[in-house]
Amino acid sequence: MLRLSGPQSVAIASRLWSGRCGLAELPPRALALGQLCQTSGEVIDQECLAVHMPGPHSYTGENVVELHCHGGALCAQLALRALLAAGCRLADPGEFSKRAFLNGRMDLTQAEAVADLIRAGSEAALQLANRQLDGNFGRGITKFYQDLLMLLAEIESRLDFPEEDLEWQSIPQLTEQLEEIEQQLERCAASRRQGEILRGGIKLAIAGAPNVGKSSLLNAILGQERAIVSDIPGTTRDSIEVPVSIRGIPIHLIDTAGIRHGGDTIERIGIERTRKNLAAADLILWVMDASLPWQPQLLEQERPPGKVLYIANKADCLAEIPATPPTDFPDETLLYTCALDGTGLEPLYDAIEKFVWQGKSSLEIDFAVSERHCHSMQAAAEQIRKAMQQLEKETWELAAAALHQAISELGKITGQTLSDDILNQIFARFCIGK
Ligand code: GDP
Repeated sequence: MLRLSGPQSVAIASRLWSGRCGLAELPPRALALGQLCQTSGEVIDQECLAVHMPGPHSYTGENVVELHCHGGALCAQLALRALLAAGCRLADPGEFSKRAFLNGRMDLTQAEAVADLIRAGSEAALQLANRQLDGNFGRGITKFYQDLLMLLAEIESRLDFPEEDLEWQSIPQLTEQLEEIEQQLERCAASRRQGEILRGGIKLAIAGAPNVGKSSLLNAILGQERAIVSDIPGTTRDSIEVPVSIRGIPIHLIDTAGIRHGGDTIERIGIERTRKNLAAADLILWVMDASLPWQPQLLEQERPPGKVLYIANKADCLAEIPATPPTDFPDETLLYTCALDGTGLEPLYDAIEKFVWQGKSSLEIDFAVSERHCHSMQAAAEQIRKAMQQLEKETWELAAAALHQAISELGKITGQTLSDDILNQIFARFCIGK
């Protein structure tokens, strides 16, 4: 599908597409069948659907035309080339959404949600993006913005008309309202960790001694054969990384080369890479063979502290799965699994979920802010605190200046107060055609 936007889009598309009536005469937003040809007359696609969405009721707010060709790269490529020759240019990354923003079709938080939606690595991430796209978050921020403007107006009018006997709010009244906004902003900013996890996912490394079943466990998690499984110790020499979603959490699953000392040069390179992966991982599944003594498999010096879940795999080799870890085991949890039949995977997923959200419920949250949003919210909250201090001292001018700053920070979130440079940076994150 080729999408054109701008005042010339109907005129240019009409040079290539012809149907029973002209594009401009078609009822808006209705698909029509026609033929797509080069300007020289050569047919590109004998059957091409076209739709015309006149601005401002289109995604970008401009006149939009979509040409739906038959699939296949060549057809679309010829059509694209013909459109470029007829006067179009290629869109920049995110340019459709940027125009939608500039034309007031959506605020910046919604435009950012479009990028999140496209990149979503799990259903939970997708739902989060959809909720943000719905505009609730932007509306919440706009409400704070407007409330602060009202308070600022009141403070400034005291400066402008100090002699007038107007009905001013008392300082405690003003402070109470500011404090309420400040606290709500801080609460929202605290959802950043969840937002980062849902947007960027976490790195989960599977590590341990060779031959304990790391690759088998990865395959069991993925539900398909992705890694090479063999019974020769040291066969996973490279680290492989696969995206997977566990309990709604986007996860980059990394199978690492088994760690043992010695081995040949290639294996040693693999182990070096494993160490780097372990350092960078957010969580490590430390896999051991349940049928072997655990002490030698712990490889104490190889495990970064604070982010390890211990797995005793090959639990099928035990006569009975113990309810608790051995008394002298160094961690309170040890999860027994059998990678061959998937036993123990659900408790493992429970443990991953618990580790990632750290007891905070995640999936019911209405929104989870991004790093950019969090930064502006915290800066705004800081300025509000400054304003409150100044109010106490009745230094109205300084209080007003701080509120100006707070308002400007909030405006950056929805895009009301942002420089072109920053806007360009934000839209450069998008893929082309969005
Ligand atoms: P890695 O070197 O740690 O990646 O181990 P692999 O996944 O290559 O597995 C090594 C061997 O152990 C293979 O023969 C697997 O079939 C076997 N294996 C893996 N998981 C289990 C398990 O849960 N139970 C049993 N009985 N064998 C397993």
